[in-house]
Amino acid sequence: MNRTVGFIYAHPDDETFGCSFLIRQIANSGDKAVLLTATRGEAGKSGRLGAMTSEQLAEIRDQELLRAGDILGIAEIEQLDLGDGRLRGVKQEVLIDKIASFLNKHEAEVVVTFPADGISGHPDHIAIHHAVNQAVFSGACSSVQKLYYNVMGSFSAKIKGPDSVLALKGEELQETKAKALAAHESQILSIERVFGKLDGGPPWHFAPELFQLVWERGSFNPTKEENSVFDDLL
Ligand SMILES: [Zn+2]
Repeated sequence: MNRTVGFIYAHPDDETFGCSFLIRQIANSGDKAVLLTATRGEAGKSGRLGAMTSEQLAEIRDQELLRAGDILGIAEIEQLDLGDGRLRGVKQEVLIDKIASFLNKHEAEVVVTFPADGISGHPDHIAIHHAVNQAVFSGACSSVQKLYYNVMGSFSAKIKGPDSVLALKGEELQETKAKALAAHESQILSIERVFGKLDGGPPWHFAPELFQLVWERGSFNPTKEENSVFDDLL
């Protein structure tokens, strides 16, 4: 109880795509999920909302993220404004420092972020991946005990070998995920590309959310079967 998981992402909606089940479970168990996004997503498309300026889109996406955060039970959201599509151009030390400050402020015990390929290959996602690695591996975040990469896709098809991967099927959270995705209305076209039409349910059939444990108190890629991201915390 009262444990904190820090989710570190690039854009509003990254958390909902890959972590809806996990975030809602954390909130339901009385623990805290806190989210840092490095940008406001202003370079994205605006879906069926029509043409708008990047500032208008940023404002809409701020509101969408608040709505999704309510649905998922995110305890606190912090958004940086480092430039959607431009994170590669941000000094790495700046990004690392912002991430470490956020994790330290919340005394996060567990951290979740992108895998090396950024899931989609987006350069912003990959920049976040490297900065989170640096923040955690350097020891700058003394409360952090575990780091997970949020890996999407089919559990059996994509995950092989000794890696420890926690798979959350979210049977009872399908509607929650559908609602949180729908909250990101401006992103509906990419949502439909990944998940299909949201009005195809109920029932919905979202793939399991996958979390690969890559670091635990100094040891890399520990091999273990886990039931929760909170397993074995001190
Ligand atoms: Zn993204």
